[in-house]
Amino acid sequence: MRFNTRLIHDGQPADPLTGAVNVPVYLSSTFRQAAPNRNQGYVYGRSGNPTRAVLEATLAKLEGGSTGLAFASGLGALTTLLESFPSGSRVVSVDDVYGGTWRLLEHHRRQFGLRVEYVDMTDLSRVRAALAEPADLVYLETPTNPLLKLVDIAGAVRLARRAHALAVVDNTFATPALQHPIDLGADIVLHSTTKYLGGHSDIIGGALVIKDPKAGERFTWLQNAVGAIPSPFDCFLVLRGIHTLGVRMRAHGESALAVAEALSGHRRVRRVLYPGLRSHPQHALARRQMSGFGGMVSVELEGGRRAALRFLKGLTVFTLAESLGGVESLVDHPATMTHASVPRREREAHGVTDGLVRLSCGIEDPSDLADDVMRALKGI
Ligand SMILES: *Cc1c(COP(=O)(O)O)cnc(C)c1O
Repeated sequence: MRFNTRLIHDGQPADPLTGAVNVPVYLSSTFRQAAPNRNQGYVYGRSGNPTRAVLEATLAKLEGGSTGLAFASGLGALTTLLESFPSGSRVVSVDDVYGGTWRLLEHHRRQFGLRVEYVDMTDLSRVRAALAEPADLVYLETPTNPLLKLVDIAGAVRLARRAHALAVVDNTFATPALQHPIDLGADIVLHSTTKYLGGHSDIIGGALVIKDPKAGERFTWLQNAVGAIPSPFDCFLVLRGIHTLGVRMRAHGESALAVAEALSGHRRVRRVLYPGLRSHPQHALARRQMSGFGGMVSVELEGGRRAALRFLKGLTVFTLAESLGGVESLVDHPATMTHASVPRREREAHGVTDGLVRLSCGIEDPSDLADDVMRALKGI
C-alpha cells in the first residue's frame, strides 16, 4: 500500500468488539483479571491501554520500526530515551538542536554525568572527527530547529554504526510523510507528536519508534518504569491527526514555498532558510533525502531585534506563539521565545540571531500567507 492509504489503515483495524471504524477512547486505568495474572492483554493503564496500543502500532508501521511507544510529550520521550544511558555515556548531538532538548541534555550532563558534544553535522567530516572518540548516542535533528539545516542521515548513521553508537533521529519537522530515518539506517526515531502528527495544536505528545525488537522491549520496559505516558484521549487525537497527515504536509509545503519565495530577495531580508529553495545550501540533499520540504521557514531580517519585533507586530494571519505544525500559521522569535534557554553566546555562535524569525506555515490559502509576510515587511 502507498503511504496515504497506510496513514488511514496501518495498525488500525475496526474495533473487534463493536466494529467502530475508529478505535474507542478506552478511559480505564485498570483491567479486570480472570485470575491473578490472567488478563486480556491489559493490566494497568500505565503499562498499556488499547487506544494507545493502536497509536503505537500505527507509529511503528509508518516509521518502519518494530516497536512504537507513545509519551506524554516529546521531552517525555527524550527523558525515557536518556534513562537508558548510564552516567558517563557520551552523546554526540547536532548543534542546532531544539531548545528543550538542549536544556534536558545539559541537565543530564550536570546531574547525571552525561558527556555531551554538539557538532555542526551539515559537514560529515565533523561528525567523523567527533566519533574518533567512542560514543554511545548520536542524536540528529533534520531539518533542524530553527535554522533548517539538514543532516545526511545515511552518512551520519554509517559513522555512528562504526563507532557502535545508537543513532537517533528527531523526525518531528519532516514526519514520516516526508522522510524515513529508519529506512536510512537509524535505530530510533523520536517525535514531538504535539506538532505535525497531532497537527491541530490541541495536544502535547511524544513518541519513540525503535527498529530492533530487542531494543524495543527494553524501551517498552522503560516506558512503563518512567511512566511519562499520554492519556487515551490524546492518543485518539494524534491518531485522528495522522489520518490527514499526507494532505496536510502537502498543503504545509505549498504554503511554506509561497512564503519563502515572497520573502526572498526583499531588501529587508538578509536570508531565507527553506530546504525547498534552490538557494538553500543543502537543497540537493533535501531532494535526495526528503519527499517534500515541509512547512517551516526561517528568515533573518536586516536590523536585528527591532526589525524582527516590528515584523511580528505587522503580521495578521500568523499568530505569535511557540510551537509549530498545526493547521494555523504561527510565528516565533527564537531568541526570546523557544530558544531563550540557550545562552546568547551559544545561540549566536551557531546563527540564532536576534533578527531571526521562524514561521510555521499552516494550511490557510498560500496567497494570504505570502501577502501577510509582505505586508509585515513593509511595516518594518
Ligand atoms: C517541540 C519539539 C520537541 C519537544 O516536544 P514537546 O512535545 O514540546 O515536549 C522536540 N523536538 C522538536 C524538533 C520539537 O519541535
